[in-house]
Amino acid sequence: MRQTVLKCSKQTLERMKAHYGPYIQSKKPGASLFFAKPPGCAVTAYLSGKVLFQGKTCETEAARWQGESTAAKKKAPTAGDTRWLPPKNLATLSVIGSDEVGTGDYFGPMTVTAAFIASDQLKELQSVGLKDSKQLSDLQIDALAETIKPLITYKQLTLANRKYNELFEGGMNQGKMKAMLHNHAIRHVIHQLKEEGTPYDGILIDQFAKPGVYYNYLKGQPEIINDRVWFQTKAEGLHLSVAAASIIARQAFVKEMDALSEKVGMGLPKGAGAQVDAAAAQLIREQGKDVLRDVAKLHFANTQKAFELTRQ
Ligand code: MG
Repeated sequence: MRQTVLKCSKQTLERMKAHYGPYIQSKKPGASLFFAKPPGCAVTAYLSGKVLFQGKTCETEAARWQGESTAAKKKAPTAGDTRWLPPKNLATLSVIGSDEVGTGDYFGPMTVTAAFIASDQLKELQSVGLKDSKQLSDLQIDALAETIKPLITYKQLTLANRKYNELFEGGMNQGKMKAMLHNHAIRHVIHQLKEEGTPYDGILIDQFAKPGVYYNYLKGQPEIINDRVWFQTKAEGLHLSVAAASIIARQAFVKEMDALSEKVGMGLPKGAGAQVDAAAAQLIREQGKDVLRDVAKLHFANTQKAFELTRQ
């Protein structure tokens, strides 16, 4: 049987006991504080501080407490952060992944998607071609997104340019907007899974800020999701749920870019390079500066550069 052992402080033991409250069994081994059976795992906490996790989900279960265990603290003073690292068997777990698109593009919205893939769906999604989207063209992304969307539970959010600019001018930075959208999308998926009675092992966020910074951004928000949340950069290569989230977010971004291009009557380029400056300058000349508010992220340096171009 698979097992993991942690050495925990009294406070952590108390928090564990409260956490596993509904799963605590009346019969417990001698010298133990409690014996609980959450789904897929048996947890035995001993008075000595030793906690034994046994069974299928033992690594995931133990990972929740790893950052608090005294063993982890001895190894590194910053061990508090290890709790945000995914377990080693991540790729095989049932995970809600989240990712965003459009944050580095001057034109177009910011899109964020959270997508859930259960462990027993991994094979099917692999077989329809789900993978890291970096190599795929917009057309391929669109086709793949249409294939996977009916198969999975997901939430896609689009922050339109006008709203983005309003929030930014109100003092909110882009990181905070991202954090809020990620939390919102993840929360939505969790609610849906709860309604369906579908269990999940954890949440993997494609890391754009350190966990501490992420949660600082979320201070004061309703329903902050922080249980079994893992952060990793390049996470789309670590679990298919993030790859799916990335593909759905990218499809939404491309669609909105097409709609905006049609609205202003010219193709809006992606990115934030010289082509983008030129397109923005053309828009200002032909339609006036106000049009940018609905199609661009005004705080980017491109706005200034575009104005300079119009004066040449
Ligand atoms: Mg990302």
